[in-house]
Amino acid sequence: MLQQAKARNIDEEKQKRDEERLSRRMQEINYKILVISGKGGVGKSTVAVNLAAALSAMEKKAGLLDVDIHGPSVPTLLGLQGCRFEFEGNEILPVTVSDTLKVVSIGFLLDKKTDAVIWRGPRKFHMIKQFLTDVNWGSLDYLVVDSPPGTGDEPMAVAQLAGAPSGAVIVTTPQDVAIHDVRRCVTFCHTLSIPVLGIVENMSGLVCPHCGETIDLFKSGGGEALAEEMNVPFLGKIPIEPEIVRVGDNGLSYGEHKTDHPAANHFKPIAQQIISTSMNTAIES
Ligand code: ADP
Repeated sequence: MLQQAKARNIDEEKQKRDEERLSRRMQEINYKILVISGKGGVGKSTVAVNLAAALSAMEKKAGLLDVDIHGPSVPTLLGLQGCRFEFEGNEILPVTVSDTLKVVSIGFLLDKKTDAVIWRGPRKFHMIKQFLTDVNWGSLDYLVVDSPPGTGDEPMAVAQLAGAPSGAVIVTTPQDVAIHDVRRCVTFCHTLSIPVLGIVENMSGLVCPHCGETIDLFKSGGGEALAEEMNVPFLGKIPIEPEIVRVGDNGLSYGEHKTDHPAANHFKPIAQQIISTSMNTAIES
């Protein structure tokens, strides 16, 4: 009995110490941005990567955390395949892309492209907690978190662990089949009391390189209409842009966001809106 009570005390003390460490770490991050989507393939990781790069190009200290445990694409999108974490004592050091951009992805732990993570909920929760607690980000203005599609274990873990001030960016394509799931994302945010920073309508129209006319392959305006219906901000439309595919496949170079590269031009206004909204939210909270 006495031994059991002692073990319980030790567990409770450890839990308390872990919580204090997490809270100290989160206090070093001014604002956490959770990037979510109702469906896969709508460009959520692309938005997360470009948003972090845009913030960093605006001289904000940005971190990018990829918790898309089953399909981490951040290493590919940033050309960081083959990178590994370094460790310092019991801390994980993020991969440094530039003075103002640091990256952590579960992909940095996988040895081969074919490796798959097959984990249940509690294990995922523990991994995300470890990433938030043990990664030495230093002080950050923004931590952008790329979650898997849907409203499952991973975004819920981040929402619970990261704490305020934080907000969510919801990415969708314009057609009805994607839009329906965005309603669930908004409800998820309301239920977990995460402010919705806004909806991004991605793959919204394609400008024909020959005649310059816009072709609405997946329709247009669905994300904007839904933002109005659900009374959340609309952050903007990003067209289908061949350059986004090219830099996504070859690895976005951080420098591209300092130029007038099409990806930079589309994401800069979104990053600017997030900066002003997050500053207001941070002041209120
Ligand atoms: P998700 O994270 O939602 O699964 P990704 O960000 O991995 O989606 O994007 C899926 C594919 O679509 C990638 O090849 C990416 O380069 C491409 N993509 C994303 N957004 C755009 C866009 N606006 N224009 C063209 N291709 C895009």
